[in-house]
Amino acid sequence: MSVQRTLRRSVSCTGIGLHSGNKVTLSLKPAPADYGIRFQRSDLGGLEIPATVTHLGGIQYQTGLTREAVSVETVEHLLAALTALGIDNVIVELNHPEVPIMDGSAARFVEAIDEVGLAELEAPRRFLKILKRVSVEEAGAYGELLPYNGFHLDVEIDFDTPLIGTQRIELDLNPGAFRRELARARTFGFMKDVERLWAAGLALGASLENTVAIGDDRIINREGLRFPDEFVRHKALDAVGDLALAGAPILGAFRSRRGGHRLNALVLKALFADPEAWTMIEAPRYREVRHAELSHRLAAANFAAERS
Ligand SMILES: [Zn+2]
Repeated sequence: MSVQRTLRRSVSCTGIGLHSGNKVTLSLKPAPADYGIRFQRSDLGGLEIPATVTHLGGIQYQTGLTREAVSVETVEHLLAALTALGIDNVIVELNHPEVPIMDGSAARFVEAIDEVGLAELEAPRRFLKILKRVSVEEAGAYGELLPYNGFHLDVEIDFDTPLIGTQRIELDLNPGAFRRELARARTFGFMKDVERLWAAGLALGASLENTVAIGDDRIINREGLRFPDEFVRHKALDAVGDLALAGAPILGAFRSRRGGHRLNALVLKALFADPEAWTMIEAPRYREVRHAELSHRLAAANFAAERS
């Protein structure tokens, strides 16, 4: 795809915030070329917060954005759906500080985008191309971005419970792979952490409707898991959303070990701290082959065939 895209028309969905527990309405609206992805708080006069690493706010348990003391939280699953499906420009309007958690995955956002479809814009797409390896190591976690012709993900997690253990997923990301492999993977949490999170005013909206709850020896959700390795798939989904804060689709490979929102953000910061590690490239303009030109070429082909 070489031209920028937005939504064909507006679409909304309503849910609750995972951490606040409050009801919130999210609206996705078409935006012009080169607008990017920006959040607007309709309850606060519509101040825009661009979804870029410059505006990174909270990175514990979720990814948040902040501008002039106004913030939006838990943006990662929505950003993952928007960028993985190739949407360059969109206004994300919220009437509350937190993106609704829906079922804990990106599935509802994919559905909403599919409901209205995409529209092409008269401007070439821009990509952030990785030119050399950038890596970050912190507290047993490791992450890196490497040059790659496409967008490759390689995510591994390692939890000290046999219910998760070591899991790894590796894939080339495109809209089809995102829909099939990552979009439906849900947020997860440990029952033993719940009281501590609640005491800190977090996860107040968490329930079995939007979180895979891990007990001492079993998954609490009656329906079980959507994939045997749903946990690492969700981590990969989070990484897609967090890396969307690069501000443009990445041409590169991302690898992480025992990572999370904080590590993903640190890798992006390390990337932008090194001007030799990346460059912005523009897709060649889409050139329409006109009918006249086509019949001329067909004539030329016929002529050539006759002569040989
Ligand atoms: Zn997540």
